[in-house]
Amino acid sequence: MDPIIIIGGGPSGMMAAISVKSKYKNLDVILLERSKVLGTKMKLTGGGRCNVTAKMSVDEVISYIPKNGKFLFSSLTNYGPLDIIKFFESNHTPLKEEDHSRMFPLSNKAVDIVDALALKIYQLGVKVYLNSYVVDIDPINKEVILEDKQYKYQHLIIATGGITLPQTGSDGTGHRLAQKAGHSITKLLPAEVPLVSNDQFIHEKTLQGLSFKDVTVNVFDGTKLKHSITHDLLITHFGLSGPAALRASFYILNLLEKENKPVNITIDFIPKVNLHDLVHSKDLEELLKVHQIPKRLVDFLKEQNPDYLKLLKSFPMTIYTTRGFPAAFVTNGGVVVKEVDPKTMRSKINAYISFCGEVLDINAYTGGFNITSAFSTGYTAGENINLE
Ligand SMILES: Cc1cc2nc3c(=O)[nH]c(=O)nc-3n(C[C@H](O)[C@H](O)[C@H](O)COP(=O)(O)OP(=O)(O)OC[C@H]3O[C@@H](n4cnc5c(N)ncnc54)[C@H](O)[C@@H]3O)c2cc1C
Repeated sequence: MDPIIIIGGGPSGMMAAISVKSKYKNLDVILLERSKVLGTKMKLTGGGRCNVTAKMSVDEVISYIPKNGKFLFSSLTNYGPLDIIKFFESNHTPLKEEDHSRMFPLSNKAVDIVDALALKIYQLGVKVYLNSYVVDIDPINKEVILEDKQYKYQHLIIATGGITLPQTGSDGTGHRLAQKAGHSITKLLPAEVPLVSNDQFIHEKTLQGLSFKDVTVNVFDGTKLKHSITHDLLITHFGLSGPAALRASFYILNLLEKENKPVNITIDFIPKVNLHDLVHSKDLEELLKVHQIPKRLVDFLKEQNPDYLKLLKSFPMTIYTTRGFPAAFVTNGGVVVKEVDPKTMRSKINAYISFCGEVLDINAYTGGFNITSAFSTGYTAGENINLE
């Protein structure tokens, strides 16, 4: 029988290889990776610490996946955060929980996560061919085509990632391979990306470097409130960064695409206290201190408007664009999920091809949800190869 071939040695492809070979010990499984090592992008994740998953229920995880989260219900139920945690604990890589239920390796080293996956792959006997760039596929003759050779396959899993940080290997070839198999690709946009503003205070760097815990960013379509996101925020020399800005970027980019004009947002720097309580506070200074409102912000707001407490609750900003793909954590867009069976990750167009990971039209917030999605779809794809 021809081998099972997986293209891409990121988290989704590595987990798919582990899943196939764990279930079908006698099958020949080949993992093709264009780079000279496995998991290049993964080693850079979480600031080099890799936020592997989030210790949450399936429904909660889905609520942090704004694009096609529901598509993942079956795969997350099949292989979810608790399975991921168990996998690493039983492969000598214990994890620890941090704020927002985020799970990291106890060692704080992303490379330990990659090593645990790579070791399992070698122990199971998966054949890993590095420096193997797949340039094409022939879905009729079931062949994978490299620059200098080709392989026949029994079943093919495409795990080639999105198009962010292309120097790590994911350059969008996978989308072309999917199209070759008859699939459609949605428009590719950056996701989880910092926001650019030309507002004067940004231009003048007045508030640059201020960071905030759990502030609320409100995104407006014209004057209509569309989304509110509460998380940490950072004011930078170009605009806004930090989890609240990254999460808001998904909705802001959709509006920028739709309307082609700047998007209005407001920031509530103190969401836990309403305006009435703020205005009538007996010890305002102490209240602002307890809520970690920096003096630099208060002084700036006072200069803008004597009624500065209103501004503290609803500070207006205009977002013109984002920092684009070079600064994006994830790709919004990919293989149309309607063309893939969510229970098996098999293509509905070609029964001998499956997809997993970021090559699919799925994007999650930062917080461990993208790698969770990659592991979950990878595991499910591997378990459900077509051997007929
Ligand atoms: C800076 C940064 C930090 C991040 N931090 C986190 C985090 O902490 N937690 C989290 O959940 N998510 C994080 N993400 C997102 C996460 O890294 C990705 O969503 C995840 O790696 C996707 O996994 P994947 O296996 O689908 O793709 P990738 O990890 O991109 O792997 C795809 C692999 O396929 C290979 N490949 C591509 N085309 C071919 C081809 N034609 N032939 C052969 N091989 C090919 C590539 O070389 C690559 O190794 C981060 C992203 C970035 C950019």
